[in-house]
Amino acid sequence: MSKENTIKELQKILLADQINLDSDELYDAAADRYKKYAKAKKVLDVPSPTAIVYPNNTEEVKKLLTFAREHKINVIPRSGKTATEGGLENWKDDTIVIDSKRLDKIMKIDTYNMQATVQAGVQLQRLEDELRILGYTTGHSPQSKPVAQYGGLVATRSIGQFSTLYGGIEDMVVGLECVFPDGHISRIKNVPRRSGGPDIRHIVIGNEGTLCFITEVTIKIFKFYPENNQFFGYLTKDVDTGLKVLREVVVNGFRPSVARIYSEEDARQHFYHFHKDKCVLIFMAEGPKDIVTATANAIDAAVEKFKDGILEPVDPKLIETWFNQLNWSQQDLDDEFQGMVDNDKHDGFTTEVSADWETIPQVYYNVIERIKNEFPRIGDITMLGGHSSHSYINGTNMYFVYNYNIKCNPEDEMRIYHHPIQTIIVEETLRLGGSMCHHHGIGKYRNEWADEEHGSAFYMLEKLKEAFDPDGIMNFGTIFPQEEGVKYQK
Ligand SMILES: Cc1cc2nc3c(=O)[nH]c(=O)nc-3n(C[C@H](O)[C@H](O)[C@H](O)COP(=O)(O)OP(=O)(O)OC[C@H]3O[C@@H](n4cnc5c(N)ncnc54)[C@H](O)[C@@H]3O)c2cc1C
Repeated sequence: MSKENTIKELQKILLADQINLDSDELYDAAADRYKKYAKAKKVLDVPSPTAIVYPNNTEEVKKLLTFAREHKINVIPRSGKTATEGGLENWKDDTIVIDSKRLDKIMKIDTYNMQATVQAGVQLQRLEDELRILGYTTGHSPQSKPVAQYGGLVATRSIGQFSTLYGGIEDMVVGLECVFPDGHISRIKNVPRRSGGPDIRHIVIGNEGTLCFITEVTIKIFKFYPENNQFFGYLTKDVDTGLKVLREVVVNGFRPSVARIYSEEDARQHFYHFHKDKCVLIFMAEGPKDIVTATANAIDAAVEKFKDGILEPVDPKLIETWFNQLNWSQQDLDDEFQGMVDNDKHDGFTTEVSADWETIPQVYYNVIERIKNEFPRIGDITMLGGHSSHSYINGTNMYFVYNYNIKCNPEDEMRIYHHPIQTIIVEETLRLGGSMCHHHGIGKYRNEWADEEHGSAFYMLEKLKEAFDPDGIMNFGTIFPQEEGVKYQK
């Protein structure tokens, strides 16, 4: 179908103010933060979508998906636009972006059953603010909290800064509603647990818009006790010591909400006022008073056990202050973008992986070594390091961070800088048995390793795609590699 005819047909389904054809907004919708520099410099090499549409309800989502499937038009579901791995990037000439913006109702806050129901376009911060007034919290706090919305948060399997206590979004979702490309609407009911076959929530959580459009989510809520919050900070002699302390606390059965170790380099950019060129270990304990006291004692004991690697404590006030300014608002995102439009030739990127306790130090040291030895533009790198920020009983994540001066055309940045570095990180992590993506999803730029990430279990993902999206209209190129997309990747 031609773009003109697609628009004509959309006008039969929606009102004029629900269809956005503004060329600047379509250009913006062609890519996410993966190609933010090329986007800022107006050199994006991917096609703009045909239209961005704003359904008012689930029925309209159903009509849009049914129409798109009938005419084999690509669909990109969109929520807060904070995607980092190309999940919102467009690789097809005729594409409709279905935006969750008008699905913005907080349907119910149920403090007796400890759950809240929201539509996909509700910003996490909005629900959090409402809950705080009542003395509750979502427990979910990704750095993109002021901007990210529930549709995207669930679709990417996001995780927040307090995850060691509250878990990732997959631990919070109770039930949901979603629409499949054939127009079928599924509602997964809200129950505390069941053994009615495989857990079908997990078909939807993390699907990155490749199987269905999420319209509504019910999540758990938690009592909030900010008066009991305690912060802890230490300088350590190396990353290893920090990882050992994190492990000790978690393996002993304690759940601080925050448990992090920063490498020297990463600490330098976060804690400029106290890092002293050392690694920084931080914890936060929250919850009922007795639990906080027990957690604080467990942290003290773990620090004591590894005291040979602990250099000095940090004033807890400094850690608390740092935490309070960590999140990114829309203004921060806009300012960063404007900085790139105006003058910037410096960029920073991240790649987040995970592995068990035994493997994660190896992943960290091997990756840093390999980047230093193998990356041809090492002289352009201004920072290379990482931190572990989400711990589990059997392992943790590693968030590699790297900044560089861009000494190439804007359209070549990702190919020359980020992609080769990310390739080393992914290769090394997969080689050692870890996961290449801890919380940002696969998007379009880690799809080349999706098969290797899952091994023989990739079969299950492929079958899901075949079953739910047999015409391949949902977010073409995301998670599942496509020959047609290689020209945008390399
Ligand atoms: C500054 C910054 C900090 C970040 N910090 C964190 C962090 O701490 N933790 C973390 O996990 N992530 C983080 N991220 C990544 C990002 O915020 C998360 O992936 C977030 O969950 C995306 O939500 P969103 O509403 O912005 O989704 P979008 O960016 O709009 O979409 C993300 C993906 O979900 C799909 N999608 C969106 N809406 C729907 C829907 N209704 N139905 C089906 N699929 C849909 C899209 O197609 C896309 O593939 C950060 C990003 C930024 C820019």
